[in-house]
Amino acid sequence: MNKLIIPTMAAVLFLAMPMETHAQKKITKKLTLSKSVNETEMDAFIANLMAKMTVDEKIGQLNLPTGGEATTGSVVSTDLEGKIKAGQVGGVFSLTTPDRVRKTQEIAVTQSRLKIPLIFGQDVIHGYKTLFPIPLGLSATWDLNLIEKTARIAATEASADGLNWAYSPMVDISRDPRWGRISEGSGEDTYLGAKIAAAMVKGLQGDDLSADNTLMACVKHFALYGAAEAGRDYNTTDMSLHRMYNEYLPPYKAAVDAGAGSIMTSFNDINGLPATANPWLLTDVLRKQWGFKGLVVTDYTAINELIDHGLGDLQQVSALSLKAGVDMDMVGEGFLTTLKKSLQEGKVTEADINRACKMVLEAKYKLGLFEDPYKYCSEERAKKEILSKDHLAFAREVAGQSFVLLKNENNTLPLKKTGTVALIGPLANTGSNMPGTWSVNADLKNTQSLLDGMKELVGSKVKILHSLGSNLLDDTAYQQRATMFGREIPRDTRSEDELIKEAVATAQQSDVVIAALGESSEMTGESSSRTDLNIPAGQQRLLAALLKTGKPVVLVVFAGRPLTLTWEQEHVPAILNVWFGGTEAAKAITDVVFGDVNPSGKLTATFPKNVGQIPIYYSHKNTGRPLAEGKWFQKFRSNYLDVDNNPLYPFGYGLSYTTFTYGDISLSNNSFKAGDSITVSVKVTNTGQTEGKEVVQLYTQDLVGGITRPVKELKGFQKISLKPGENKEVTFVISAEDLKFYNANLEYATEPGDFKVFVGGNSRDVKEATFTLN
Ligand code: BGC
Repeated sequence: MNKLIIPTMAAVLFLAMPMETHAQKKITKKLTLSKSVNETEMDAFIANLMAKMTVDEKIGQLNLPTGGEATTGSVVSTDLEGKIKAGQVGGVFSLTTPDRVRKTQEIAVTQSRLKIPLIFGQDVIHGYKTLFPIPLGLSATWDLNLIEKTARIAATEASADGLNWAYSPMVDISRDPRWGRISEGSGEDTYLGAKIAAAMVKGLQGDDLSADNTLMACVKHFALYGAAEAGRDYNTTDMSLHRMYNEYLPPYKAAVDAGAGSIMTSFNDINGLPATANPWLLTDVLRKQWGFKGLVVTDYTAINELIDHGLGDLQQVSALSLKAGVDMDMVGEGFLTTLKKSLQEGKVTEADINRACKMVLEAKYKLGLFEDPYKYCSEERAKKEILSKDHLAFAREVAGQSFVLLKNENNTLPLKKTGTVALIGPLANTGSNMPGTWSVNADLKNTQSLLDGMKELVGSKVKILHSLGSNLLDDTAYQQRATMFGREIPRDTRSEDELIKEAVATAQQSDVVIAALGESSEMTGESSSRTDLNIPAGQQRLLAALLKTGKPVVLVVFAGRPLTLTWEQEHVPAILNVWFGGTEAAKAITDVVFGDVNPSGKLTATFPKNVGQIPIYYSHKNTGRPLAEGKWFQKFRSNYLDVDNNPLYPFGYGLSYTTFTYGDISLSNNSFKAGDSITVSVKVTNTGQTEGKEVVQLYTQDLVGGITRPVKELKGFQKISLKPGENKEVTFVISAEDLKFYNANLEYATEPGDFKVFVGGNSRDVKEATFTLN
């Protein structure tokens, strides 16, 4: 990186910029005054600039090398400085801090021929330095304002530190918890996923992309990456168009409709053609059907990977990708090294290159970089805003709302702030595992562990004892694979017997045991698929030994995916699922465990009983031989011999320290016609002793369709807060628009007929009524 350091001051360099840059400056100046871009001015500006560009310079704009801070593949870019000077770089991936970004930008705007500024992107997924819960946890809050605010804060911090482009939101629907990246998205549901996608875009981009505290969003991974066969990362997807349009594509579309400035192609094959070389996906669907006007970037070396997909050599796959609709090539340099040759050989046209170049330049224009290439570098703002008190306080609040209480027999939780607590398990004393996957900017060494958080918050009242109890995993090599990138959990070389003995002795000196078990943060996320979703066997043996002591046991589960907690559900009195809660996770867990915060998270992905049930999701279709309600095995019905069809915990499920009851559904009408709507009302009462939040969920079922329809589909939700004894009438409006779907001809339309409507606190336990759409 030292190579990039140039001592000249930014202000001086600005004065040295040539005439056309001043002219460009004038035009763009107006841009920041208005919130939306004046497209005529932008077009004129870019046409003027492109008229001066050579083909090589245009191709250079399509190149996105890495600054080297975070790499997810094997390629790391070389000679960044030389390439920037030569006009061979459009943006830089993963280079941060105002100082380094400014110095790199200086090279572009002073030493390249046309002085075109660079864009700087990174994976700002669930916070920048102030980390919020992993996205799957965030989605469990079911609170769109809160999620939007997390993205706003992430953008505020990252933009101060030099970035202007976030590879977020990740909106891939996934119904397969074997896939490690289920942790990075909002779970299994189309409707909720689409709402969260839009909220994230709004939070990142604000209402003015050129403001110095907003980032351009990059929706990913387009498309269907979450449907990888067997849950194995990067694997093939093959899916009917109906399922695509009705279930998997809507979140990407919602993000596009919300104005996302860019989109990232996915690694996977889609029905025989990988997304990155798929003109149907990138041009027909994205540009023509959805009217997307932004930038299309590949995932990390996705073009090069088309060679292994079997689509040809680098020149061939680069040409295919450009023609399919890719504008920018992340890290692989296939565009940089082959497009000129392809142009000469007639494999691509200059119009293809111009189209892509225009998209890159437009993104820069919209970000206001032609006006001020350094606008996203602010030491002062970085100092003031990154990890500010307010941000941390909010992170603690959000984490507390993301945890899901899965079981709480005899009100084991919350714990009283007295007596002695034994905090045991391999996840009890590791700060570095708290932020979770995709926290590349986290200060891992200074993130508080659960043990330290508990000591800080309740240590003066509660005696806290700790022992390790077990290693994370029995297999040393597996543990190495599962704890990298500064998140290592050192192994204790004592025997399992010794570790358990020590833990049991600790438990015996205590009034209650908190077992902090589950996955390390690197057991989910990219390239972290698993075929066994139990809590690792050694940890389970520890748990069994702790239960044997007869002490009440609270299981705090760390996980980036739904785990198969079937044994735990049967044997452990209280289970709190805490995902990976971010920078303030330790405090937030303490808040919930000791009752300062009442848990209100609800699952956004179904928890299976065992891996064999996967894929299992609430919005499945009926078969022609459905199982009768409440039954398990019936011969010649759709079921298994060895396990029933029900999940362990259904979508939308989550307990509270209080209880809620639902009255019957009342409908404003039993039927309505297109253009009209009906109102669905339900009285929800807090019947417990504690104030609490409840996510009231509305589902519908289309009883007869031109194509088969799901047994339930989420169509609305409201998160309400009720004091003990208080009730609220919760109302939802359903219009014909809400009942539309892509029909047999892939037209988005309603079909008149009978519907069921369900309201409840999860997708299983619901009140029900019927109505007709005429
Ligand atoms: C991931 C993307 C990420 C990119 C850059 C890839 O391996 O799939 O989600 O944005 O790396 O870090």
